[in-house]
Amino acid sequence: MPGESCGICGGDGRIANSFSGTTATCPGCHGTGRRAEDTGLLRDVTKTKPSHHRQPNKAKEPQAAAGPSTLEGMQMAKEVQGCAFISNATKTKLLIEIVEHEATHGKCTQTFVKKVRKQLRAPGA
Ligand SMILES: [Zn+2]
Repeated sequence: MPGESCGICGGDGRIANSFSGTTATCPGCHGTGRRAEDTGLLRDVTKTKPSHHRQPNKAKEPQAAAGPSTLEGMQMAKEVQGCAFISNATKTKLLIEIVEHEATHGKCTQTFVKKVRKQLRAPGA
């Protein structure tokens, strides 16, 4: 292709060595004076990443009776159980929510914790 001259030697194919007064074959084009189409340096080195190690999905059914499995969940359960003003029905409902949330998210997210704590707050507090 015209204009695709070697950028190192400018198309000469040789490089003058001012120090020794000799010329050397251009390392960029190997004397052709043309830009190498495939230098190997520009080649995309795409590493094939090993697929993320996946844990097999635990087919765990949400069971409030089993209780939460994460530390946050257990803490939440404690707070729910210890709440003085919500009914037992509400407690059970919240406990199931915690266990289900854990089953879905693998943990208790901050958003969820906030949401539950809101319901544990005394009215007007
Ligand atoms: Zn060259």
